[in-house]
Amino acid sequence: MRQTTETTEAGRTIREETPLLISGSSLYGEERADLFIAEGRIRALGPEAAAEAKRLMAEHGPDAVRRIDAEGLIALPGMVDLHTHLREPGREDAETVESGSRAAALGGFTAVHAMANSSPVADTAGVVEQVHRLGLESGWTEVHPVGAVTVGLAGEQLAELGAMADSSAQVRMFSDDGICVHNPVLMRRALEYVKSFGGFIAQHAQEPLLTDGAQMNEGCVSAVLGLPGWPAVAEEAIIARDVLLTQHVESRLHVCHVSTKGSVEIVRWAKERGIDVTAEVTPHHLILTEEMVRSFNPVYKVNPPLRTAEDVHALREGLADGTIDVIGTDHAPHPTQLKECEWHQAAMGMTGLETALSVVQHTMVDTGLMDWRRFAEVSSVRPAEIAGHPHQGRPLAVGEPAHLILVDPQARRTVRPEEHATKGRNSPFSGMELPGQVRTTILAGRAVVDEGALQRSLTGRKADHRA
Ligand SMILES: [Zn+2]
Repeated sequence: MRQTTETTEAGRTIREETPLLISGSSLYGEERADLFIAEGRIRALGPEAAAEAKRLMAEHGPDAVRRIDAEGLIALPGMVDLHTHLREPGREDAETVESGSRAAALGGFTAVHAMANSSPVADTAGVVEQVHRLGLESGWTEVHPVGAVTVGLAGEQLAELGAMADSSAQVRMFSDDGICVHNPVLMRRALEYVKSFGGFIAQHAQEPLLTDGAQMNEGCVSAVLGLPGWPAVAEEAIIARDVLLTQHVESRLHVCHVSTKGSVEIVRWAKERGIDVTAEVTPHHLILTEEMVRSFNPVYKVNPPLRTAEDVHALREGLADGTIDVIGTDHAPHPTQLKECEWHQAAMGMTGLETALSVVQHTMVDTGLMDWRRFAEVSSVRPAEIAGHPHQGRPLAVGEPAHLILVDPQARRTVRPEEHATKGRNSPFSGMELPGQVRTTILAGRAVVDEGALQRSLTGRKADHRA
């Protein structure tokens, strides 16, 4: 009987993976086609796939090929998240690279980008290499560290961007996310500096003086609740400034978690002028509004804040028409004591890796605003292009790397955060019934998730490995 074997040779794991025959799935929700996967790549599609599997079984016996029945499932390229908080090093009580990677794999992500606001901050080659190595050791998903723009996220001095780019982590994406790079001179220098190695700056757009002490969106609800407001203009003013700076120095800007109608309009304006800007929206900003804050439940406290129904509408339209390029989860796990407390004291952020696909299906696909092919664009193809990973976000075609997922669009699940793989229990969707489930996640030819559960990682870790 042929089995998946693993031997370690000179410290390097050599894998021999049983080839996979995926039968009955529909590619991008369109035509049905079998897929044959071997040695980490899609080797055959359609009738060729079954023929290939048959040949192999005739030669080596029935166990030479593992079959996955994907009847009724949609095959899509593995999702790529540009905005994930993995918390390690320093806040392993909130999340680790291992626990966050598992959550990512279960959510359908074959690559994530770990934001730099760890402790110590990922502002040196040493820290980004550490995060990258932890990701490789976990083997549930690819982990690409994001480098900090400024030392310690303090906004005073540029971090060693070149050293991080040259490191084994090959960082191209830089962000002080959580904090805005508000000094325009520093922002300009950062935009200029990253050009030399094809990098880009991902900005958390928040004018700090306009949001001092802010607790929620500024508007009627904040007035009624008596909470200090976070005006839309605090986000929009920074985006407007940064697209102009980007145009001026001919660099590349990515706008994190766009949350207002005005922000969408500014990005649209910038794109029409050929400015090299991309934008992301989180799943939670596509569905939740500031009305949730009336409950004073800190699970709804997030940065940028939940906005108005009008903003949600504009974000959905912007994502559908391509003004917004990608979905970014902004997965932000927190220990329970930082979320189950009084609103003013609570940390900002929500988990999102394990619910992203369901929320986007619910808000965008099931509403007819986009089809699954466009879903693949915003969740996989574009984020891989922006981050510069030529092996991710690839089409489902012969010869391509086998990073893909199988989704059951008919499934309906009630979100139970206590069952999630992330350490964070702060899901705003807790108790909600949402459509869609990632049944299988294939990373480099291995089904790291199958039947909706963790199997074995690329490095042989199992679901019961201590996270
Ligand atoms: Zn942010």
